[in-house]
Amino acid sequence: MKLILMGAPGAGKGTHARYLSEKYQIPQISTGDIFRANLREGTPLGLKAKSYMDQGLLVPDELTTDLVLDRLQQEDCENGYILDGFPRNLNQAEALTQALSDRGEEIDFAIHLEISEEVIIRRMEGRRVCEKCGASYNLVSLPPLTPGICDFCGGAVVQRKDDEAETVRKRLEVYREQTEPIVRYYREQGKEARIDSGQSIEAVREELKQLLGEKDGHQN
Ligand code: AMP
Repeated sequence: MKLILMGAPGAGKGTHARYLSEKYQIPQISTGDIFRANLREGTPLGLKAKSYMDQGLLVPDELTTDLVLDRLQQEDCENGYILDGFPRNLNQAEALTQALSDRGEEIDFAIHLEISEEVIIRRMEGRRVCEKCGASYNLVSLPPLTPGICDFCGGAVVQRKDDEAETVRKRLEVYREQTEPIVRYYREQGKEARIDSGQSIEAVREELKQLLGEKDGHQN
């Protein structure tokens, strides 16, 4: 099963990608997580990506597209994957379609998590992330069991620099201008599956299960 999760920052791509990854036992490939991991490790890629991320801008395609296309060639992607945060513009979408079609493949669904900007801004104010392992939380809907401490690894749970109000506004603008066109791109290919992401996490999961079926499931 090859899936793309589309949606504005704060629409819940990471949360639902993690769920789908566990349920269907396919990797979640999050370009944002890859850049953040590189940044934590101080790699040249992380250092280059940082200035763009801090400003809420897209990291250039030269640093992004090949990284993802190479990742898709790895063995754990044989049975499919969930792309979370890629493609982010038409160039990336076209490069992905081309790379897949060269191998006689195509994606199954581009799942569009729809949500209003008002809800996004409210959610992102509460969004927090573990500094150490990258797990995500929300102070309102999904707080860590112990405030400020990651449930999984004990790392510090903090606000991402790019979740601060000013940067969120910039990221939404970048989303409208550069990423939204990919929604139409996949709609025209008959791949778009829309889900109202303003609902509770459980309600969104139900719709995802209906869309994708239960057959490969490992959880309820
Ligand atoms: P995310 O965690 O998906 O919200 O991504 C955080 C930041 O990483 C974005 O605001 C961009 O700066 C960068 N980023 C993530 N994915 C991409 C991508 N596909 N293309 C360019 N930049 C990206």
